[in-house]
Amino acid sequence: MFKKILVANRGEIALRIQRACHELGVKAVMVYSEADRDAKYVKLAEEAVCIGPAPSPLSYLNMPAIISAAEVTDAEAIHPGYGFLSENADFAERVEKSGFQFIGPTPDSIRMMGDKVSAKQAMIRAGVPCVPGSDGELPDDPVQIRRIAKSIGYPVIIKAAGGGGGRGMRVVHTEAALVNAVQMTKAEAQAAFGNPAVYMEKFLQNPRHIEIQILADKYRNAVYLGERDCSMQRRHQKVIEEAPAPGIPRKLIEKIGERCVAACKKIGYRGAGTFEFLYENGEFYFIEMNTRVQVEHPVTEWITGVDIVRTQIMVAAGEKLPFTQRQVQIQGHAIECRVNAEDPYKFIPSPGRITMWHAPGGPGVRVDSHAYTNYYVPPNYDSMIGKIIVHGDTREQALARMRTALSETVIEGINTNVALHRELMVDAKFVAGGTNIHYLEEWLSQRQ
Ligand code: ADP
Repeated sequence: MFKKILVANRGEIALRIQRACHELGVKAVMVYSEADRDAKYVKLAEEAVCIGPAPSPLSYLNMPAIISAAEVTDAEAIHPGYGFLSENADFAERVEKSGFQFIGPTPDSIRMMGDKVSAKQAMIRAGVPCVPGSDGELPDDPVQIRRIAKSIGYPVIIKAAGGGGGRGMRVVHTEAALVNAVQMTKAEAQAAFGNPAVYMEKFLQNPRHIEIQILADKYRNAVYLGERDCSMQRRHQKVIEEAPAPGIPRKLIEKIGERCVAACKKIGYRGAGTFEFLYENGEFYFIEMNTRVQVEHPVTEWITGVDIVRTQIMVAAGEKLPFTQRQVQIQGHAIECRVNAEDPYKFIPSPGRITMWHAPGGPGVRVDSHAYTNYYVPPNYDSMIGKIIVHGDTREQALARMRTALSETVIEGINTNVALHRELMVDAKFVAGGTNIHYLEEWLSQRQ
């Protein structure tokens, strides 16, 4: 096992990784920007290194600063968390070339999955069903673009090959709007991701977002840890996640889970990863793979009893997966609410000082957050300040626990979306289970 790991991230995930390190008896070096000087995990750290000013490009995206921090502290491995450099193949490569272990897949796997066009092609080769669409990148010729859209059938969605975070997507309903939409998405993709390549998919009308969590070691052992339902989204960004997915037959999950495991073995994948699918009319369609730990990993941890972050560290250190597929058993139901520093209905970010923070507790309640009373939420980063996760024997019990947990939660000084979560937890359709990816936005537009 490693003696020391550098945590190249911030916020709740930095604290989550620090906790996993400490449990394993591993020292954790925390890095921080000038805006995160007062973070809880920095105060708790045995070693912490300032890597630059508040703007991410100068700190959390600053590869030389992070690698130097690992060098001066004699860390052996780097955990990238999620976001920032976690899915940057060049970073993984530089980490390994500098003599550190990257806690994640190989740079080649990251590169293949980071380009959604090559990811889809790899999945088609591995026998994973994909959303019908263009055969790779779209050409420039308008005649060909129209022909491709016609063969797929409207509506279609134009997506950036290098896209992420719900950005770089455009739905097209008519041929008249098509070519212009492709050009606009290309320009946006170039500006946002430095890669103008776009591809086309059938726009599914009423799908659910279902994803499969996998874990793999360096010896081509791989398991899937069931599924998560992340259909409650706003602007293609997840707001609530749960596991298992209500109403989907276990047989179907097993079938798609086994496909994902086979794909991992085929490409020599190692570490944690998530296969994201759209699910409609009993069919799964692959959309992308995330080659990192995800925000919503706790719901899976709770229904399987597997510590995903701990296992990431263990397999990176060269250990074998400590369990087999047969040993993975699903128990009960878990739900996660993302707590964001924003107006609950207008979604305007609300950074600033938290004058009062009271987190919920009790049986079946987990709060992953770096926030505390008097913590200042910096305006420079993502608005998520924590996650409330609950577990129950049944979905009904989990929902009841979440309602109680949300009623106990007190956050003053800034706006948060806790009020929105309180309403959603008693919404008849959400409570019934199985709402699709458009449900939350429709609900929000009707509320106004
Ligand atoms: P990102 O990497 O930006 O998260 P994804 O490819 O994972 O992008 O898609 C994010 C979300 O966008 C999905 O969860 C879904 O809500 C929507 N989406 C993506 N592709 C399609 C599609 N072909 N049809 C309908 N919705 C889609």
